[in-house]
Amino acid sequence: MENPNRDRQGDTGSHNSGQGIQRVVIAGGGTAGWMAAAALSKTLGKVLDIRLVESDEIGTVGVGEATIPTLVTFHRLLEINEQEFMAAVKGTFKLGISFEGWRDVGEDYIHSFGVTGRDHWTAGFQHFWLKGKQCGVASDFGDYCLELKAAQENKFAHLPKNGLNYAFHMDATLYAGFLRKFSEGFGVQRIEGKIKQVNTAPKSGDITGLVLESGDVIEADLFIDCTGFRGLLIEQTLHAGYEDWSHWLPNDSAVAVQTRSVGEPIPYTRSIAREAGWQWRIPLQHRVGNGLVYCSRFVSDEVARQTLVDNIEGEMITAPRVIKFRTGTRLKHWKKNCVALGLASGFVEPLESTSIHLIQRGILRLIQMFPLTGIAQSDIDEFNQQTSFEIENIRDFIVLHYHVTNRDDTPFWRHCQRMEIPETLAHRVRLFKETGRVFRVPNELFAENSWIQVMLGQGLLPQQYHPIVNVMGEEELTLFLGQIKGKVDDAVARLPSHGDYVNQYCQASDS
Ligand SMILES: Cc1cc2nc3c(=O)[nH]c(=O)nc-3n(C[C@H](O)[C@H](O)[C@H](O)COP(=O)(O)OP(=O)(O)OC[C@H]3O[C@@H](n4cnc5c(N)ncnc54)[C@H](O)[C@@H]3O)c2cc1C
Repeated sequence: MENPNRDRQGDTGSHNSGQGIQRVVIAGGGTAGWMAAAALSKTLGKVLDIRLVESDEIGTVGVGEATIPTLVTFHRLLEINEQEFMAAVKGTFKLGISFEGWRDVGEDYIHSFGVTGRDHWTAGFQHFWLKGKQCGVASDFGDYCLELKAAQENKFAHLPKNGLNYAFHMDATLYAGFLRKFSEGFGVQRIEGKIKQVNTAPKSGDITGLVLESGDVIEADLFIDCTGFRGLLIEQTLHAGYEDWSHWLPNDSAVAVQTRSVGEPIPYTRSIAREAGWQWRIPLQHRVGNGLVYCSRFVSDEVARQTLVDNIEGEMITAPRVIKFRTGTRLKHWKKNCVALGLASGFVEPLESTSIHLIQRGILRLIQMFPLTGIAQSDIDEFNQQTSFEIENIRDFIVLHYHVTNRDDTPFWRHCQRMEIPETLAHRVRLFKETGRVFRVPNELFAENSWIQVMLGQGLLPQQYHPIVNVMGEEELTLFLGQIKGKVDDAVARLPSHGDYVNQYCQASDS
């Protein structure tokens, strides 16, 4: 039934005011749709009627298999059993990302999920390491980080008090299936069908229903657009607008292929720089996910496909598939009675595996702001402001990888090195270069240690260190660094191999 009140609502007032928000429809059943269904049904399922519409014929984007540690927290909030989840998605553990050939051809570093060394309240560990380097008593920056060393040695285990910070590699299709079962257990109703039209109220412009090809109309009070890049509700219907970031993040294409596993799965994602982009390698229990992200201005789809095929290990088990995208963000992630999540809300690019994190942040934010009666415009504004802030900081972090590089061997890398960057990032780069300092912006995803690992990894060496370091004599500094490294080495030596740990902890029944 259509809500007669809606026609009287304007753009700036509340939406569906006076009416309870009880009927929620999620459009789309990819990772975003099922994560939203799982979290909403687990927390508010008793007071909401939640339906999810998806089309088997359209399918999902089928990539998005590397995550960051915040997904562990999301699963804890949902009380998802990790062993069951890992076995269901044929998952492996991830301790970071290995960036190969990013600083320069043949030079690699790992951005790990750990903390490197020990900070002093006046100055981060990098200052002590810098002096240690100058005196010749420090080894690689990564040698002082447990997660990084464990990744390099293919080791993994859960340690007490979250002593090893980790994320997952998982099969995206199996993850959607796992969350579907979870959500249906909390009352979510799944509707199979293709949405052919979105109905809106003539005056308010609020969405009133989704018309399926079958002719059925699915009505709701609140709609969650998880329809992927097409943004069927948020863009095609509500015209929320898009801020294009391709001048900072020029990649616009990817070619993806799955291969059979060769050897033990490693506990990190590989990101290998290529002539006009980068290649990912994500090891799962049963297969490996591979892809090449590239900029079509510098390389054709065919050359990209061939580059990928020439650089994979193991037999291909799917045909290489090209995916096109435009980096950027929706100008409004919540508009009227529609909230966009996942690719429908924008796409930064997959380099630091942040898209699934952004989905989960959007869901948690929506649950925290979930309306009881009408949708308040102040909630919408707050949601949009928080979301934009979060994405812009992630964008800067990713642009850093492309821009701060010694690579100038191809037109693509020369372009990245010379392109204008956001002033917010330019400031951070200057600050680190001139002083060695990094400050985390409140509520931003990546902490100081991530920025430092990537800045150093990309070849940015600070010109000075904090004077507090000189309070330590050289002997004391040597001892300080040596003790940290010793502890890391001892802890890594005691860890089992990642492959063995996965087999005993969460082996999929048919892997
Ligand atoms: C190349 C690439 C690599 C990536 N790698 C990572 C990564 O490693 N880590 C990470 O966090 N993220 C990654 N991402 C992002 C990640 O894939 C997505 O964030 C995630 O898969 C969520 O997608 P989605 O659910 O928004 O969209 P989709 O998976 O596209 O799902 C859209 C859903 O909407 C449905 N739908 C669409 N139109 C209609 C219609 N008319 N009627 C009915 N249903 C409809 C579809 O059937 C589908 O169910 C990557 C993305 C790309 C492009």
